[in-house]
Amino acid sequence: MLQIEELYVKYPKANDHALTNLKLSLQNGEFVCILGKSGAGKSTFIRCLNGLQRPTSGAVIWNEQNIFQLKQEQLRKTRVEMGMIFQHFNLIPRLTVYQNVLTGMFGKRSPWKNILGLFSKEEKQLALKMIERVDLYDHKDKRVEALSGGQKQRVAIARALLQNPKVFLGDEPVASLDPGTATRIFSLLQSIHKKYDLLTIINVHDVVLAKQFATRIIALKNGEVVFDDVPDKFTDEVYDLVYN
Ligand code: ADP
Repeated sequence: MLQIEELYVKYPKANDHALTNLKLSLQNGEFVCILGKSGAGKSTFIRCLNGLQRPTSGAVIWNEQNIFQLKQEQLRKTRVEMGMIFQHFNLIPRLTVYQNVLTGMFGKRSPWKNILGLFSKEEKQLALKMIERVDLYDHKDKRVEALSGGQKQRVAIARALLQNPKVFLGDEPVASLDPGTATRIFSLLQSIHKKYDLLTIINVHDVVLAKQFATRIIALKNGEVVFDDVPDKFTDEVYDLVYN
């Protein structure tokens, strides 16, 4: 469970808070979609969950510890438990699918092993298994720069899975994909969520996708939670409140 306690974020020089007094319990097994207009605070929120963004005040409790009080090494271990995917994939374009996926191991290994690029037989087998899991086995030796956007996001998902995460975070992972591809990526995220029993938290600007896949929708407006309930309760009136 991820517990968010009185979380406030104010960026330097900003007049207003990007996040104001967020208090949430995110339970294992939930598939949470975060909705809200551009600038509502979605990205800031998701980045606070794995410590990429430090709040001005408040806590994110994971494994009974406030992640913002962890030492660097403990925070690194915590991040390994939280796989993350991004709008622009954050892959290394000139490396192959297989090489990119293997980098998912980096957080778990000693730096010298990473520098030397030494991977055990088990690590290599696991990378191939995850590539198969996202349906890219036939492309494993292709450079990532030669792939479509949807395929790139599949590589990023396989790389995140290699961390064996307990939480799966997505910061607008389908924002640059066409609608059909976006739906297929969400289907994949849903099947992975179920298979590995992950707590999944995804920012998305597409209400239809959120309603189709989420078990819970949280909507932000001006950095505050204005809706937190099951998708069926996200009515047209709520839509107007969130987006107008
Ligand atoms: P969303 O993901 O919903 O578009 P963000 O979390 O990116 O929202 O942004 C929330 C608010 O914080 C916006 O007003 C945005 O302009 C501001 N903001 C985001 N990142 C920064 C930053 N690095 N420095 C200053 N302001 C920022």
